[in-house]
Amino acid sequence: MQKMVILGATGSIGASTLSVIGNNPEAYCIYALVANTNVDKMLALCIEHKPSIAHMVDADAAMLLRQRLPVNSGVEITTGAAELDDLVSSACVDTVMAAIVGAAGLLPTLAAVKAGKRVLLANKESLVMSGSLFIDAMKASGSQVLPVDSEHNAIFQSLPESIQKNIGYCDLEGAGVSHILLTGSGGPFLTSPLDSLSTMTPAQACKHPNWSMGRKISVDSATMMNKGLEYIEARWLFNTTPDQLKVVIHPQSVIHSMVQYRDGSVLAQLGNPDMRTPIAHCMSYPERINSGVEPLDFFKVGQLSFLEPDFERFPCLSLAIEACKQGQEATTVLNAANEISVAAFLENKLKFTDIAKINETCLNKVSMSSLTSLDDIIALDTQTRRFALELIAKI
Ligand code: NAD
Ligand code: MG
Repeated sequence: MQKMVILGATGSIGASTLSVIGNNPEAYCIYALVANTNVDKMLALCIEHKPSIAHMVDADAAMLLRQRLPVNSGVEITTGAAELDDLVSSACVDTVMAAIVGAAGLLPTLAAVKAGKRVLLANKESLVMSGSLFIDAMKASGSQVLPVDSEHNAIFQSLPESIQKNIGYCDLEGAGVSHILLTGSGGPFLTSPLDSLSTMTPAQACKHPNWSMGRKISVDSATMMNKGLEYIEARWLFNTTPDQLKVVIHPQSVIHSMVQYRDGSVLAQLGNPDMRTPIAHCMSYPERINSGVEPLDFFKVGQLSFLEPDFERFPCLSLAIEACKQGQEATTVLNAANEISVAAFLENKLKFTDIAKINETCLNKVSMSSLTSLDDIIALDTQTRRFALELIAKI
């Protein structure tokens, strides 16, 4: 029986994880559920799943949950950063699903890595921010990190076992790999007229053609910043050089990414676009469990198509690739700027096309000194957020 903590339990990945656990109750039990402010959802999850602990990051939300939870529910309610750190590091925990959205996931995800837990990584932003520090922490503690992000999960599945066992430090060339082909659907605006992009609304941006996801990652998919963050995520997980990583637009999202080998072979992982597949893969690796996902029907799929990315349409993608080449300071700045600009867009304070402009200005203007500690990373993140907010206020 694997004892699990779900960070981001009230979100989209949280729901998919709970669904996979529901299909395999003999193998997994929920030790703790963690969320930010959504009391209604957490209350429902506590009643349905009866975790030992429900942790609300927001202290007022924790108080409200305590008032509303039936007496004798058996669920302990906690709040506070130190308490969250203790929770993920607890000897009662085997596996941590890291599915908080954004930089807010960094500290608890890193705490789980440092405590040597098996970490199922959905929160790509934490790896984008902490890069080498994350990988070093993983190596030091012996934590097994498994990629939940569907592309990275597909790449992981398409790589040999010797590489799978050496995530973060792998030698792709030594394993005969020539390229990693990171696929992306191109999002809802792949074929929209370029001059219509500035008028796109949050509702339009969040309407992804293939995947159902949280609002931040949905906007990131529309700008293709998501593919950019994934490019950086792949750089760290698979220890790639820029030459080894290519982005391929694949509108159907049936192939979830591919690995091209020296001899001309291309290995891919395919499936319906449903996050329960990569989640189930990570939960049970190296075994296979029932995810509840419909089998892929090739006759319904019909055609698979591929395009080169258009950087004029998707400037955020080229910003991310450039930032990745520059190094960890630039990727930390870009991630922070993007969280602020996307939040402003979702609040109707910014045009869709201004997201890339704010991100680019932050990359050009925020002064970056080298990052040697977690404190440095958090300071650069905070400084960038402040600068991005100032820029947005002037628009
Ligand atoms: P979501 O918006 O649906 O859920 C976010 C979760 O994070 C919620 O449970 C929320 O309570 C929690 N959260 C938000 N702010 C927090 C804070 N300050 N402190 C603690 N918890 C906080 O997001 P999602 O779509 O489930 O995505 C979660 C993560 O997984 C993101 O990093 C995303 O990039 C990644 N991911 C998601 C998908 C997907 O299909 N949804 C696919 C690949 C990767
Ligand atoms: Mg992805």
